[in-house]
Amino acid sequence: MIQTDFFNISDLLTEEQRLIQQAVRDFSDKEIKPIIEDFAQRAEFPLHLIPKFGELGVFGPTIPVEYGGGGLDYTSYGLMCQELENGDSGMRSTVSVQSSLVMWPIYAFGSEEQKRRYLPKLATGEWLGCFGLTEPDHGSNPGGMKTHIAKTESGYVLNGSKMWISNAPFAQVAVVWARNEESRVQGVIVERGMDGFSTPEIHHKWSLRASATGELVFDNVLIPETHILPGAVGLKAALQCLDKARYGIGWGAIGAAIDCYETAVKYSAERIQFDKPIGAFQLTQKKLAEMLTEITKAQLLALRLGQLMDAGKATTVQISMAKRNNVAMALNIAREARQILGAMGITGEYSIMRHMMNLESVITYEGTHDIHLLILGAEITGIGAFK
Ligand code: FAD
Repeated sequence: MIQTDFFNISDLLTEEQRLIQQAVRDFSDKEIKPIIEDFAQRAEFPLHLIPKFGELGVFGPTIPVEYGGGGLDYTSYGLMCQELENGDSGMRSTVSVQSSLVMWPIYAFGSEEQKRRYLPKLATGEWLGCFGLTEPDHGSNPGGMKTHIAKTESGYVLNGSKMWISNAPFAQVAVVWARNEESRVQGVIVERGMDGFSTPEIHHKWSLRASATGELVFDNVLIPETHILPGAVGLKAALQCLDKARYGIGWGAIGAAIDCYETAVKYSAERIQFDKPIGAFQLTQKKLAEMLTEITKAQLLALRLGQLMDAGKATTVQISMAKRNNVAMALNIAREARQILGAMGITGEYSIMRHMMNLESVITYEGTHDIHLLILGAEITGIGAFK
């Protein structure tokens, strides 16, 4: 048994949180790990897992039960993300998008009618959602968005396009951010099947290959008044959704790191070179010791952030720090673990290279590593260095 909870962090969890973590870990072991390498190699999204995620309760775990959610705390959500990403970052991405970027804004900014229409179906996985903020020319600076929405006599007309959108090719529902005639950012719900709405898939990715990524194209799409999210006004509303998703990523990355670490520990005990297991060499031990130390630090950061989220006290900057630190930690561990496996590390026989490539997206999406550094820098100095 390889120790990955070195500071007995599970002692700080409630019985319910431990049970939730175990249930998602079992799911990951049984449903994700045996199939995911194949899907990633073929660059195919395992659609059959969507209703299973619904049954497991990982879609909208923090949304109240009356809307089909789990009514759980944020620490539980974090633990779910960790165990899903222990399987694959793409599967955690799908869950993050559905829970934090689609269900949460509908819950927080939607009308009662919108909540009743969308949330229960999204919770079961009957509907899959996506979140359209990034545009071809506006990534780190979403405030520059060109997608716009104009009021007409019969409703609204949406024009523009979004790029790099997770789940887009299969999503029935898209939460989209567009600039209105008052030049304010407005959140709207777009449904598959609306005239002028298409979702071409982005191919040839080397990262998150088992997750579907696409564009959202709006060509004079008529949006009824009932699809405007009444509370989703201003870029701040979109950024609030990102806080929720980044929080889950801060936890999720730990799962990928743990899988790489465990793989490296096992391999270093089995692989013999110069008549010794490679784990007997000091340089391998240094790598492993540093990996476990970094995982432990990340776990403590995530747990404390979870407590702050549950108390309603977590700040955007704290979330930035956790996302930035923990994803970089996981990527470094994936790279070091890959080296421990030598040539075997580059094959699909082991999960490490897949995690490593996935994490290259995770370190870029939901705010790049450097943008989170600038968020922290602005907090420390009081001076924004973005422009
Ligand atoms: P750019 O903004 O062009 O940045 C390029 C580089 O410049 C980066 O290193 C960045 O740190 C640096 N940079 C930019 N501005 C500054 C500055 N002021 N100071 C210093 N350095 C700077 N978006 C969605 O809306 N929904 C999704 O579901 C979604 N899913 C995604 C899935 C995948 C697989 C990927 C790869 C991306 C996804 N994204 C999604 C988009 C993602 O959020 C953006 O890629 C990200 O915000 C960065 O934008 P960009 O790629 O345009 O990079």
